[in-house]
Amino acid sequence: MSFQVEHSDYSKITMGLLNQPLKEPMSATLTLTQNLIARNSVTPADGGCQAVMAERLAAVGFQIERLRYGNVDNLWAVRGKAQPVLCFAGHTDVVPTGPLEQWHSNPFEPEIRDGLLYGRGAADMKSGLAAMVTATEAFVAEKPDHHGAIAFLITSDEEGPSVEGTKQVVETLLARGARIDWCIVGEPSSEKQTGDMIKIGRRGSLSGRLTVHGVQGHIAYPQLAENPVHSFAPALAELTSRVWDQGDEHFQPTSFQISNMSAGTGAPNVIPGELKARFNLRYPPVQTIAALKSTVEEVLRRHGVRYTLDWYLSGEPFYTQQGKLLAGVTAAVKAVTGLSPALSTGGGTSDGRFIARMGAEVLELGVPNATIHKVNESVSVSDIDTLHGIYLQALRNLLG
Ligand SMILES: [Zn+2]
Repeated sequence: MSFQVEHSDYSKITMGLLNQPLKEPMSATLTLTQNLIARNSVTPADGGCQAVMAERLAAVGFQIERLRYGNVDNLWAVRGKAQPVLCFAGHTDVVPTGPLEQWHSNPFEPEIRDGLLYGRGAADMKSGLAAMVTATEAFVAEKPDHHGAIAFLITSDEEGPSVEGTKQVVETLLARGARIDWCIVGEPSSEKQTGDMIKIGRRGSLSGRLTVHGVQGHIAYPQLAENPVHSFAPALAELTSRVWDQGDEHFQPTSFQISNMSAGTGAPNVIPGELKARFNLRYPPVQTIAALKSTVEEVLRRHGVRYTLDWYLSGEPFYTQQGKLLAGVTAAVKAVTGLSPALSTGGGTSDGRFIARMGAEVLELGVPNATIHKVNESVSVSDIDTLHGIYLQALRNLLG
């Protein structure tokens, strides 16, 4: 499918550029973001993005290591041997485009319209990657003998299964005794403008696949059958209305949700022989996996449900206490934008959960996330430059 720019659109773009205030029309961060968007990297592809980043980082004194696991590309780069180790983390893969005809320009040909840069990955999270690289280049030029060390942990498998990406790199790093003290994940954490929200943790996510066993039979002879829908219903009512905990000042209480449920043969006169359900628990750090599992199973047993249940843990919760990292980053946001960022633990899981296992303080700070995973994903050009400024100031505050 080709995307032809209409003449009228083209003049609008040109006019838009001419009407911009007399600052540099193309910052280094914007140019690098465009370069990365132009590399089609639908998960788990990297599209050559990590090579571009590695070359830039090597040029300012980083040691580069490429770690390929399965079909996933990972980059680990370090500058300096001292502590603390401040690591920027992120991913080069993007989600699929969705229907191309709904995009107003090619998702892999970055285009600026009315101050917004359009393209797949513009917000999630190639602008974040570009800002980390250019902020680091500027900081190293300013302070070649900085304190501590700067690291990059970049994967091409965050949007996919997330098994051979950051999780595997962290295992490799732990096995060799490497450490990360502070980690800034460049995911799009903000709401309206860059810096208005920092994620300081995430809830855990525990899923179950449940089969409730019954005995199939004729509807007219219920005494000869056992209806699994009926045996599960009271247990389900209790699980969905239960107060699992109160959460705490940073986290919402545990929530139990059914995601899928099915039973029945399709015929109107047959009692089903089994019921299948999938459910998920999002839980705060005050909960334990063992307590959640035993509570669910105790409720099922108490209601006489005959069942088989398989558990899947997709992420343990993490939470970063007030510490030097949060103080340094919050001060950087304030200095660059004047904002006092909201501190949130909302949203889905991220690779921060794996890095937190290293004992690192982890937080997520990036551009606004309103258009991520949608068609016509975009980021405002000014938000990209603001993020560069915040990262640079954070480096000064923490390692300067
Ligand atoms: Zn992302």
